[in-house]
Amino acid sequence: MRNLVLILGDQLDRHSAALDGFDPACDAVWMAEVAEEATHVWSHKARIAIFLSAMRHYRDWLRAKGYPVLYHALDDPENQGSFASELTRAVRQHQPQKLIVVEPGEWRVLQSLKRTAQQLGVPLEIRPDRHFLISVDEFRRHASGRKQLRLEFFYREMRQRTGILMEGAQPVGGAWNFDAANRRAFGKQGPGLVPPPVRFAPDATTQEVIRLVETRFPNHPGSLREFDWAVTPEQAIQALDDFIENRLPLFGPYQDAMWTGEPYLYHSRLSSAMNLKLLDPRLAIAKAVDAYRQKHAPLQSVEGFVRQILGWREYIRGIYWLFMPEYLERNALNATANLPDFYWTGETEMNCLREVVGQTLRYGFAHHIQRLMITGLYALLLGVQPKQVHAWYLAIYVDAVEWVELPNVYGMSQFADGGLMASKPYVASGKYIQRMSNYCANCRFKPEKAVGADACPFTTLYWHFLMRHEPAFENHPRLGQQIRNLRRLSEADRAAIRKQAQELINQATS
Ligand SMILES: Cc1cc2nc3c(=O)[nH]c(=O)nc-3n(C[C@H](O)[C@H](O)[C@H](O)COP(=O)(O)OP(=O)(O)OC[C@H]3O[C@@H](n4cnc5c(N)ncnc54)[C@H](O)[C@@H]3O)c2cc1C
Ligand code: SF4
Repeated sequence: MRNLVLILGDQLDRHSAALDGFDPACDAVWMAEVAEEATHVWSHKARIAIFLSAMRHYRDWLRAKGYPVLYHALDDPENQGSFASELTRAVRQHQPQKLIVVEPGEWRVLQSLKRTAQQLGVPLEIRPDRHFLISVDEFRRHASGRKQLRLEFFYREMRQRTGILMEGAQPVGGAWNFDAANRRAFGKQGPGLVPPPVRFAPDATTQEVIRLVETRFPNHPGSLREFDWAVTPEQAIQALDDFIENRLPLFGPYQDAMWTGEPYLYHSRLSSAMNLKLLDPRLAIAKAVDAYRQKHAPLQSVEGFVRQILGWREYIRGIYWLFMPEYLERNALNATANLPDFYWTGETEMNCLREVVGQTLRYGFAHHIQRLMITGLYALLLGVQPKQVHAWYLAIYVDAVEWVELPNVYGMSQFADGGLMASKPYVASGKYIQRMSNYCANCRFKPEKAVGADACPFTTLYWHFLMRHEPAFENHPRLGQQIRNLRRLSEADRAAIRKQAQELINQATS
């Protein structure tokens, strides 16, 4: 054998650089389902299933196109459960002259592949991931010499570089972003009828995977009953078209809104398809821009959507590769608490958390503001160790791959990187959640109260967080108002908050 081409579970791009120059007469594709990837964090069943199902569909497509594929299925009795063991088995058997792989999405996997190739004495060629609009080296050049790595500068550069939503050197519509118009809540009347996203009933391949996951990982969190994710490029394009047609027009204004029983609202639900490389981000952007040009969707929605993909998604990846592996060790706020057990069960009296964790267990999905301002915020206020928060987010969402999950958790949500990504910690009291959702209406706690039996734990912990970190943030330009409000509290108020917060911390982490 000449080349053994390794395709990992999140590299299911039919135009992958790994397949360039492939010769079926002397090359083969290698793919492996390994238990290690489902268990190194305690993965949601839907997360395991989406990876396995998409991999099997990709394998079938490769074979139909004439590519020879060595496929190590999870239920193969000889499968020893790790990349290293499976790759060693294949290399010993087929003696390839070279291994080829596209840049993996996780630092740990890259190290494991390099180590294994070296131990086996086979050269490993690592090819660029063409799925992304900017390479890791180009991002490094963007970052070099900058004191601050803010999204805004990067995003503007990407708009100029690609010409997306540009008129010459100027942004279309005369502004780079419309964030101020994109923070609407639904009000008491609620969202009304939101067009539900297209669902994909499990086909025979997916059903087989579902049975396998139920048998092999029966004690893993989450449910497979609602599994309806796109697992092929054709389905991913259908999901994109459905979003553009039915939800993009209101995506912008309601980006930050939440509502009971509405896991998707106007969000696209495309992250897993993009992260598995079933969907090209360029196509998602092009179709959204086209919807603006056709006057089907307003600029505030289209720009908001483009910013998430052309801006955040690429920027997050750049940050990950620039700072790993040191990034994972950061804990700027010295957070030491344990993640409360209810993150795995949803069993809590706090209605917002019960709703969001419950929905997460059911679908393997929560939208951005639920991740940031409900589950993320509570962990931040409680002071949970970043590594524990990271392990939860990596395990629990169908779109979780470390390059995108980790900077979102450490940088955006937990401020564990000390402000490398976010200019300030995203902290708020229960009143923010009351404003942006209807969760508080059905909760036994009162968002405006910080002390007492019916005090909202978010509000108690919010003030406690500001008290704990007052010296560090007192001169922070963007937290000034919050610190000034804190200083209006009397010593007696502070003492009562401190006592109640400590009880919450002890209770949650005992
Ligand atoms: C604590 C935390 C953890 C997160 N973990 C992940 C994760 O593991 N995987 C993941 O893909 N996203 C993650 N995100 C980002 C974001 O929440 C999801 O991409 C989004 O909720 C997916 O739903 P959607 O496809 O409907 O997105 P939409 O709201 O419709 O956005 C469109 C697309 O933009 C991209 N995007 C949006 N926000 C971000 C962001 N902050 N970073 C990178 N890309 C973004 C996604 O590809 C998404 O599909 C996380 C955010 C937070 C705050
Ligand atoms: S009152 Fe507090 S705990 Fe209850 S739903 Fe509102 S924010 Fe969540």
